[in-house]
Amino acid sequence: MIEKLDVIVIGAGQAGPSIATRFAANGKKVALIERGHVGGTCVNTGCMPTKTLVASARVAHVARRASDFGVMAGEPAIDMRRVSERAHLVTQNARAGLESWLKQAENLELIRGHAKFVGSHEIRVGKRILTAPKIFINVGARPRIPEMPGIAEVDFFTSTSILSYAEVPRHLVVIGGSYIGLEFAQMYRRFGAEVTIVEQGAALIAREDSDVSEAIKDILEQEGVSCRLDARCISFRPTSEGVEVTLDCSAGASKIAGSHVVLAVGRTPNTDDLGLGVAGLDVDEHGFIKVDESLETNIPGVWAVGDCNGRGAFTHTAYNDFEIVTANLLDGEDRKVSERVRAYALYIDPPLGRVGLTEKEARQSGRPLLVSSRPMARVGRAVERGETAGFMKVVADAETKQILGASILGVEGDEAIHGLVDAMSAKVPYTVLEWAVPIHPTVSELIPTLLRGLGPI
Ligand SMILES: Cc1cc2nc3c(=O)[nH]c(=O)nc-3n(C[C@H](O)[C@H](O)[C@H](O)COP(=O)(O)OP(=O)(O)OC[C@H]3O[C@@H](n4cnc5c(N)ncnc54)[C@H](O)[C@@H]3O)c2cc1C
Repeated sequence: MIEKLDVIVIGAGQAGPSIATRFAANGKKVALIERGHVGGTCVNTGCMPTKTLVASARVAHVARRASDFGVMAGEPAIDMRRVSERAHLVTQNARAGLESWLKQAENLELIRGHAKFVGSHEIRVGKRILTAPKIFINVGARPRIPEMPGIAEVDFFTSTSILSYAEVPRHLVVIGGSYIGLEFAQMYRRFGAEVTIVEQGAALIAREDSDVSEAIKDILEQEGVSCRLDARCISFRPTSEGVEVTLDCSAGASKIAGSHVVLAVGRTPNTDDLGLGVAGLDVDEHGFIKVDESLETNIPGVWAVGDCNGRGAFTHTAYNDFEIVTANLLDGEDRKVSERVRAYALYIDPPLGRVGLTEKEARQSGRPLLVSSRPMARVGRAVERGETAGFMKVVADAETKQILGASILGVEGDEAIHGLVDAMSAKVPYTVLEWAVPIHPTVSELIPTLLRGLGPI
């Protein structure tokens, strides 16, 4: 027998639970289906455990530098088991909070199991078949396993499996020099591992401007992380010591004797086992579900939210997808995903806070530009903290005076960027912010100065 509901949500990640509880509070009969832990990637294997580990790694780093501040502490000892337990506890607490919130919600049933479409509006989960006029797909993504020679013959970590490894590897080889890879690279270096990043491209996080990418490479190399760029023909071979990684680079040795390898080469949407073909749902060449401006798929009454729609790859973008669909369906609004100002952070230390276009992208747009930048060495807060690596940069449209984008690589960069995120969201010209009076001594206080420095390129 087919069970009739008002709303079905597949996946209890960063959008699903909020969508489900919002409709349930609205008196709708809702099923939320989850095959793993509630909370999805962010809570269980993404943001929360990794940022907890980053925090432990930072303590080790600061302890090593303690004498710079007149505090005599000596070389810290790392108890990786306790480091790991702390990350697990943060995850467990967040998951438990989410579970009890979902349990208390009226009109909402949390169903455990793998959901699959058996028709355009029919979902099978275990022995049950459910149908609803509104279906939200929030199935997220998983680490991509690249087809590289020898990969099947060696043990490797992904960003998920490395979280269960409670030891410090002797030599960790990180395949992939993008956001996730860089966070693991610096973190394990600070825990005491030898670390080599192997990146196929000519730069780390090549999506960013080259000055940002170069500064990040300097920060990592100063801490002893080796970076092998332009790495071609990457292959793997098991050895008694762990894993030998062979590569063809313009510089450096062609073999790396690692003890462990972690793959950080992107993420694949969890859409291949959803029965999308049966439902008639369109996906792009990477498996992301195609959606329109309101996040509705080609099947009316079916929406795709979060990482699986390819319109964002972050917790805040998944959550904003929840805000968009519920505002449109329940509050009579007309919100569009294209109205979202792109913002994110890279959580190395110091972090990179980013908003809008890079300078490179702004130049490609062909409009007249104004650019300003300032080294963190000239930011009082950074000097006082003894952490002067990095710089801040802003790009604006010379005619409209709108801020087009900014990068703040430096201490508190992930927080300070929000003044610019807010200004871009409010669509105010940069000239308004020039007259703001921020608090001293903060990193944000330099933003009016940075904006006053805007000039033609
Ligand atoms: C190492 C790492 C660090 C990260 N750090 C950050 C960060 O600092 N900041 C940030 O903003 N983002 C970060 N992210 C990204 C962030 O975790 C994701 O963007 C976010 O979790 C996406 O949320 P989502 O709701 O789309 O999917 P997910 O959180 O992945 O949730 C999808 C859920 O769907 C379930 N599911 C899948 N298929 C089915 C099915 N067929 N039936 C039933 N259930 C199903 C899954 O089990 C999962 O629980 C990080 C990611 C990683 C891997």
